[in-house]
Amino acid sequence: MSFDSLGLSKPLLHAIEKAGYNSPSPIQEKTIPLILEGHDMLASAQTGTGKTAGFTLPLLQILSQGKQLRRRPVRALILTPTRELAAQIQENVDKYSQFLHLSSAVIFGGVNQNPQIKALRSGVDVLTATPGRLLDLVNQGFLKLDQVEILVLDEADRMLDMGFLRDIRKVLALLPDKRQNLLFSATFSKEIKALAGGFMHKPKLVEVNPENTTVEKIDQRVIRVDKGKKPGLTVKLISEGDWQQVLVFTRTKHGANRLAEKMNKSGITAAPIHGNKSQGARTKALAGFKDGSIRVLVATDIAARGLDIPLLPHVINFELPNVPEDYVHRIGRTGRAGASGEALSLVSVDELEYLRDIEKLIGLKLDSEELDGFEPVDEPDPKEAKKPRGRSSRPRGKSPRGRGGSGGKGPGRKR
Ligand code: AMP
Repeated sequence: MSFDSLGLSKPLLHAIEKAGYNSPSPIQEKTIPLILEGHDMLASAQTGTGKTAGFTLPLLQILSQGKQLRRRPVRALILTPTRELAAQIQENVDKYSQFLHLSSAVIFGGVNQNPQIKALRSGVDVLTATPGRLLDLVNQGFLKLDQVEILVLDEADRMLDMGFLRDIRKVLALLPDKRQNLLFSATFSKEIKALAGGFMHKPKLVEVNPENTTVEKIDQRVIRVDKGKKPGLTVKLISEGDWQQVLVFTRTKHGANRLAEKMNKSGITAAPIHGNKSQGARTKALAGFKDGSIRVLVATDIAARGLDIPLLPHVINFELPNVPEDYVHRIGRTGRAGASGEALSLVSVDELEYLRDIEKLIGLKLDSEELDGFEPVDEPDPKEAKKPRGRSSRPRGKSPRGRGGSGGKGPGRKR
């Protein structure tokens, strides 16, 4: 199936093409037509299935076809449990709405509210929010929700786990009765069904087989490696594999600089791309990467988010991210439908804990291998492996108000 047959408008198809997606994922095939028809929807889908585009694309189409109000009240509200998810959804909204005349903003707690208030004042069609900060701003009078046409509850099970039920009910009470409701959840627990039963109108049920995640289409490899030998191994893999366009992720800006320098010295053209680089330097690096004069782009997560590059054959995690959702977004840069895509993670002893968190999130146990001459030196008992110093508090799962997280996304499927 192609995106053309789903009833999406030209500006959206253009944005999809730019994102490098060849065909809709199974959940997108199901959700897009139903949402465009105006149904309420209860969908079971995990991160990695492409669910965000599954609701964002039709939502944008509906808003772009509706009447544009002069005051630009919030017409679509997307509620999500954590600031990380909120930021990721906002990136999706930005990416898919780039050829439409719609404005969007994201609000979450834990940061200064003034820039968010400023964004709201200039008018926002699509608002992505965590429940706590949303209610704070409503209570302070900066925001009204009485013109909302579409409500999305994303990761609803996690919102309930994090104790947001009361906040969700308060938000529901602020919305007009006539609206379209979309609820996404990894599981349909009793609590989720009770919540949905209370406010949804004849929802269509959509479930996708977890086998069908975009993540599973990607060939994911894990190489256990000695930390100090990661740069040498990266150079070896790229040169021996003759890989021509590779995106490498590091956790720090400094690490990105060092690795790019090491590659250039080894004869592989590389450029770092991160928050300390000027816009000019980033644009230049990206242009070189696209025209083939730069083989490797070494990026941090934040810098990679805004990158406008189509899907790639090779992504390397030089270091694993400490937020597991970032792993899904990193490897989502490859895995082109129909074409081969490979995501390779170099994992040292101090990262085993992160690997386990990632496996839990994606519901897959990843096979790991070792390569001659690069083996981890001290073989740990995995259960004893400690987290790296100074990074024990993970942002994932923390609510904007500092409540505990769910610590997982339902039962993981093991291979
Ligand atoms: P999500 O489940 O929404 O978090 O998306 C997981 C990853 O899949 C993201 O990196 C998306 O950019 C990517 N993605 C979404 N839709 C498609 C598609 N139709 N083809 C390929 N990748 C996609």
